[in-house]
Amino acid sequence: MRYPINEMFQTIQGEGYYTGMPSIFIRLQGCPVHCHWCDTKYTWNCINDNQISYKALINKNISNKTWSYVNIKNILVNIKKQKWQAKHIVITGGEPCIYNLSFLIKDLEHQGFTCQIETSGTQLIYASPKTWVTLSPKLHKFPLLSSILRANEIKFPVSKKQDLFYLDKILFMLKHRKPCHIFLQPISQKIDALNICIETCIIKNWRLSIQMHKYISIK
Ligand code: SF4
Repeated sequence: MRYPINEMFQTIQGEGYYTGMPSIFIRLQGCPVHCHWCDTKYTWNCINDNQISYKALINKNISNKTWSYVNIKNILVNIKKQKWQAKHIVITGGEPCIYNLSFLIKDLEHQGFTCQIETSGTQLIYASPKTWVTLSPKLHKFPLLSSILRANEIKFPVSKKQDLFYLDKILFMLKHRKPCHIFLQPISQKIDALNICIETCIIKNWRLSIQMHKYISIK
């Protein structure tokens, strides 16, 4: 099994429940969701002209539209070779759930890693039961019910107050379930959005996610 990978790197998770956690990010190439404010637009398409070798991928140190097919064995080899110490893996994109992630996650868990997926929830999720699912719903594409029910946390991007009505609709689907963790995240560090998030988190007893990595200038 192989996956189109845009980049792999070790950093500190800057968003949501696992904020502050040393993590190895595996960023997959490909996303059909196309949010206008997306900060990883370079991951949207798997264009042949941008395909690079495995060697070039593992030496890549800038974020751009190049990508490479990497099999699971080489993903594990690279993690070992880089001598990364983090034991938490974040599988992100792009939209990682356009691929069946269960094979990759099974092998990562077998090696002792915990796994987290960051998804828009618009695709079926193929992962292990232990996988932590971070659902980040997008306003123009309502998440699947199965994704809403599977989510361990909902990390909701907020630009204006009206966006919160959309979150209410999502939470309505969860009404008979134990609520998962809810995080509000201001889009693009906008101060108005931040204030709406702070105010709402206090009223609702939700949590704030500020994309810490952007404030401290790490990847
Ligand atoms: S789902 Fe994620 S990767 Fe895809 S366009 Fe939206 S923000 Fe970007």
